[in-house]
Amino acid sequence: MMFIKKIGIDLGTANTLVYVPKKGIVINEPSVVALSVSDRHVLAVGAEAREMLGRTPDTIVASKPLRDGVIADYRTTESLLRYFINKSLGGVRFFRPEVMIAVPAGITSTERRAVIDATIQAGAKAAYIIKEPIAAAIGSNIPIGSASGHMIIDMGGGTSEIAVISLGGIVASTSVRIGGSKFDDAVADFVRKKYGLAIGDRTAEELKIEIGSALPLEDQLTKEVRGRDMVTGLPKTVVVTSNDVTEAIQGELTGIIQAVKSVLQETPPELAADVIDKGMVISGGSSLLRNIDKLLTQVTGVPSYIAEDALLCVARGTGIALDNLDSYKRSILATK
Ligand code: ADP
Ligand code: MG
Repeated sequence: MMFIKKIGIDLGTANTLVYVPKKGIVINEPSVVALSVSDRHVLAVGAEAREMLGRTPDTIVASKPLRDGVIADYRTTESLLRYFINKSLGGVRFFRPEVMIAVPAGITSTERRAVIDATIQAGAKAAYIIKEPIAAAIGSNIPIGSASGHMIIDMGGGTSEIAVISLGGIVASTSVRIGGSKFDDAVADFVRKKYGLAIGDRTAEELKIEIGSALPLEDQLTKEVRGRDMVTGLPKTVVVTSNDVTEAIQGELTGIIQAVKSVLQETPPELAADVIDKGMVISGGSSLLRNIDKLLTQVTGVPSYIAEDALLCVARGTGIALDNLDSYKRSILATK
């Protein structure tokens, strides 16, 4: 039996992951809390709450603690953290754990304070905050402490965070509110306009994951989807192609590309030279979109690579930082 004293949490807009040093990822669930409308009582958290989404009676609402990368609701954040901290500790507990939380680089100091307070309220002995791009870099085994420029692009569900890191700190960065959910919306819009078919969020996400690509594919993929015919109001099936998805998400991809270029332009020349040498690393769930690395390489001229275990590296980075507080103290934002 191992007593857990340290917990790293990737509080994402789409998914929350918990990493325990020497154990690995112990939790990976959607960042959703289901509340009763009447008294805001917490009914379910995580995977169970997500199942309720869209098929709940109107006495239940689903609440997401983070929207567009900012804290949308304090109580929801606290409920979510309490549930995940308790779940990762298991039954018997002798210690209150130390907790490291990764938050979007763009959140305000007030929001950071709120996350720390929520973490302490949720049962932590101490709470530390690290910026997401730094955690992603640590989790992708980038030597962030070196005096050399490293570029990381973390593309999640709600935001894409782009940063150049040197000597453990962020030198240039930006965060755009474009991520996987915007891709899903764009796909649903496109299917509505081109095929006159209304599809749900989950279907749009499945299309993106199963056949989506950032660049047109030579051998096109197709997928049959069901939805509601916009004219007759009746169920209808159409075949959507990978090039449909590529076309649908062009605008969103352009937004991300612009943000990447703006960070490159802001990067001091020496560090930019390092980035050109070593390339940029892409992490987060949306980095799994086909050919996103090729597209970024094409438009920036800087080689781009997908991080190993792209969905897990922020969580892993929080755990590693917590386990090596001394080496990473320059990268950690706030403590209590
Ligand atoms: P966050 O950090 O905001 O919680 P994640 O890094 O967990 O987000 O990424 C979630 C996003 O990744 C979702 O929008 C999901 O649709 C997308 N995603 C997951 N797998 C794939 C895939 N294979 N291709 C494209 N997008 C994907
Ligand atoms: Mg994330």
